[in-house]
Amino acid sequence: TRMVGAVVMAHGDDSGLQLPPRIAPVQVIVVPIFRSDVERTQIASALTGILDALDDIRVKVDWRDERPGFKFNEWELKGVPVRIEIGPRDLASGQVTVVRRLDRAKKPVPLAELQTTIPAMLEHIQEALFKRALEFRKGHTVRLDSLAAMVGFFEESIGFVITPWCGRAEDEQAVKEATTATTRVIDRELPPGSQACAVCGRPATVEVVWGKAY
Ligand SMILES: [Zn+2]
Repeated sequence: TRMVGAVVMAHGDDSGLQLPPRIAPVQVIVVPIFRSDVERTQIASALTGILDALDDIRVKVDWRDERPGFKFNEWELKGVPVRIEIGPRDLASGQVTVVRRLDRAKKPVPLAELQTTIPAMLEHIQEALFKRALEFRKGHTVRLDSLAAMVGFFEESIGFVITPWCGRAEDEQAVKEATTATTRVIDRELPPGSQACAVCGRPATVEVVWGKAY
């Protein structure tokens, strides 16, 4: 779960979070759009089939008594990867409108294709966000060789720090207390005796990536 914080951090934008589909508690939010009780009933009945088709996916339907635009914003802020809008016009043409949080791309999807289109779309978003996170990490990682430098970095910057490290749990604790950052991943092993641990000065055995959970 340590990577999760890093991924969420990397994916935030002006409209809030972007949750990778695999960890999103709600993967698809359905917003019914209707003006009358008759329309509401029609949509509710169409939704039964849609929810059946999306059986394997974490779907939630937002029936709250709020305007659609309010709901769109709220679910975007929460980072839900895919939104399905369904209104009378969609129903009349046997489709729904699907919007990805990734880039807000909007497209009509025929009801009969939902079962294949939505899982493929979630997979694509997962990959795109992962690539974006890797690029972010590359662009926001610095190499440092002392705890003082790490404290300075984490006070002023968002990103990751690579340091030589001896592997002792006491060091992890010291770094966590000073910066709240924790180890993310071992970048590579070091030849014995080649470098000193950035935290305690003992001989380092690895290069480790430090980062904060946001
Ligand atoms: Zn050490």
